[in-house]
Amino acid sequence: ATPTAIMVGVGKGAENNILIKDAESLELGYRVNAVVLDKTGTLTEGKPTVTDLHWLIPTDEQVQSAPVLYALEAQSEHPLAEAVTEYLKQTGVSGVTVSRFDSITGHGVKADYQGITYVIGSRQLIENQGITLGELVEQRANSFYTTAKTVVFFANQKQVLAVIAIADPVKPTSRQAVETLQRRGIAVYMLTGDNAQTAAAVASQVGISHYRAGVLPADKSLFIQELQAQGKVVAMVGDGINDSQALAQADVSIAMGKGSDIAMDVAKMTLITSDLSSVPKALQLSRKTVLTIR
Ligand code: ADP
Ligand code: MG
Repeated sequence: ATPTAIMVGVGKGAENNILIKDAESLELGYRVNAVVLDKTGTLTEGKPTVTDLHWLIPTDEQVQSAPVLYALEAQSEHPLAEAVTEYLKQTGVSGVTVSRFDSITGHGVKADYQGITYVIGSRQLIENQGITLGELVEQRANSFYTTAKTVVFFANQKQVLAVIAIADPVKPTSRQAVETLQRRGIAVYMLTGDNAQTAAAVASQVGISHYRAGVLPADKSLFIQELQAQGKVVAMVGDGINDSQALAQADVSIAMGKGSDIAMDVAKMTLITSDLSSVPKALQLSRKTVLTIR
């Protein structure tokens, strides 16, 4: 494209809440035939709230453990952690001082309190600690999964102490945006670190049949490499710290507004609104930019 066409394109983008940092992505956008979407914060609101906190221990032990849970999540930067601390705060719980805090990317966090190690996070994190969930916990978790809720587990070295259900609704515009892309012959994929059941429920709500769950940050970028190896031109849309590697790997990288600063630093396009319909708009803008000069 000519410099003038690019300038016009960048200007049109800005008018439509699409910030284009790198002109090259404006020229590549029209060739995109695969779009990879992150779930949390991209397809969903990204403002998760706790709907249920189900304890598996007696009341006196709950009173002892809740402040530890609070302390763990207060140190985590994950959106789910904020949902948990918000919920506990409302019930009058505050934190204690924990030691040896550690964040396990894509899985959760752990820390020690009075010589006992506590973890909060995914099923896999719990199982990696050598703790079996047990029938009761499984039943609880399953009832939440079917409603597209994310389920996280709070445990010590011996047992699961609580099951927490967190809802993060799909944005009203997500389904339409996915449909628009698919109608243009673009393959749409969803990637998430969340569990398979929740991923399936969200994917079906937005009309995506190709998705991967339990994906670690580095694997998001590997997945994009796989698509590229098949000859696809890939756009990645994400919002989190976890998405920066994948954004860097993609041919066209799009950060969602209100996402993490890291995502916006890496991405070559930023959508100021958190409205997913800006994604087909951005690709269309590229098409127009390139075609005017031909
Ligand atoms: P996503 O791709 O959906 O953004 P992440 O990779 O950020 O997922 O997180 C994957 C999973 O790890 C979450 O669904 C959750 O089960 C668990 N997890 C990570 N951090 C935390 C935390 N601070 N508290 C509870 N669970 C967590
Ligand atoms: Mg995310």
